[in-house]
Amino acid sequence: MLSLERRYVDEVIAHAREDAPNECCGIIAGRDGRPTQLYRAVNAEASPYRYNVDPKDLLRIYRDLDNHGWDVLAIYHSHTHTEAYPSPTDVSLAAWPEAYYLIVSLADEAKPVLRAFRIQDGRVTEHELQVVDDAGAHLDAAR
Ligand SMILES: [Zn+2]
Repeated sequence: MLSLERRYVDEVIAHAREDAPNECCGIIAGRDGRPTQLYRAVNAEASPYRYNVDPKDLLRIYRDLDNHGWDVLAIYHSHTHTEAYPSPTDVSLAAWPEAYYLIVSLADEAKPVLRAFRIQDGRVTEHELQVVDDAGAHLDAAR
């Protein structure tokens, strides 16, 4: 199960809307399975049908992750006209077996749908996405 504070979910949806009709992409860093920071990335494809995290941008993000001792918790991207499920291209290009793949669908503009998956050896498994409120997360972090 992936647990995300509401603000991460809001940010992914906001990014998707800003980049529409093109797909957006980005990375959520984490430590011990808990999200720590969201990085918007450049979609090198600038396309409504596919995404590829710009290699220079990926390097920038990796450096920052390294500096903080964080991992790639999740990679997110948007589907502007199709459901929030990995496309055959997403599956064949999946390069992070340890990370969650978050897909936000804007197919229904008024009701964005966000779902979480793992893609390992060409196999897609869906994982529960738990959205917690930011106040709760704050208490949790203060322990
Ligand atoms: Zn996709």
